[in-house]
Amino acid sequence: MSGTVNGLHHVTMIASGAVANNAFYTEALGLRRVKTTVNFDAPDVYHLYFGDELGRAGTVMTSFPFKGAARGRRGAGEAAETSFAVPAGSLSAWEERLSPLGPVRRETRFGQERLALEGPDGEGIALVGVEGDARTPWTGVVGEEMGVRGFQGVTLWLRDAGPTVELLTLMGYDEEGREGAFIRMRARNGNGADVVDLREDRSLPFAQQSAGSVHHIAFSVPDRAAQAEVRRALSEVGFQPTPSIDRDYFYAIYFRSPGGVLFEVATEEPGFTRDEAAEALGTALKLPKQHAHLRDALKRQLEPLDGVQS
Ligand code: ZN
Repeated sequence: MSGTVNGLHHVTMIASGAVANNAFYTEALGLRRVKTTVNFDAPDVYHLYFGDELGRAGTVMTSFPFKGAARGRRGAGEAAETSFAVPAGSLSAWEERLSPLGPVRRETRFGQERLALEGPDGEGIALVGVEGDARTPWTGVVGEEMGVRGFQGVTLWLRDAGPTVELLTLMGYDEEGREGAFIRMRARNGNGADVVDLREDRSLPFAQQSAGSVHHIAFSVPDRAAQAEVRRALSEVGFQPTPSIDRDYFYAIYFRSPGGVLFEVATEEPGFTRDEAAEALGTALKLPKQHAHLRDALKRQLEPLDGVQS
């Protein structure tokens, strides 16, 4: 259907340091760092991308590590948890793998077993046992039988979920069920990263975004034509999405959702192989062209990361 999205594209968080952030997503969760670049607006801050082999839409966690940033406060108006899909039988192995890093809680939500934990900046993470997820995991560190398939989804914390249910319905999601404070929305035409859970609680304090906070969530569309249709559909009901912005690896529009969460709609084109071969993804510091002249200074300022050539 036109004017709708295909699940999530990426999730972007704020971190307090590149080394710990990189270590958690690549070594603990076993994702591949598919791009090492810098923030368009603050080029002395990395923009790191972690995902599957090619950084396919629906697998990509990205971070802005602002060195020494204070911890944010979780609350209403943000994506308070990002969940990753892993094979249903692998949760005990994951529990064993991740427990040394901090507390891991076993939970059940909508009939699915999950592990809830925090990343190095306190970010809310879950690993959800999903049956039959056909996506191929990156197996650099973690084997096929455990490997992260990509996102399952995100959980938005909201004081009032109603307007967000309406918005997601417009974007191509159906309400799948309600359980306690949670409303589960699922993309009709999803890429695997299909779930948006809404936790509604009118007593929640508002989030204060800083380290450990999700800055925005991005939904996926194949190309700019599909993005233009989504943009038109959003504008027709009163949202004010930005024009399409070239983010080097995708084109992006942004708008504020009614519950306060910043939404983006990003294209699958051109992808992370735009400026690096598939086998070399993430291994070179890539700079947006307006910042290319800063390379020498940035190499001195940015924290060294393993596997990055200078
Ligand atoms: Zn984004």
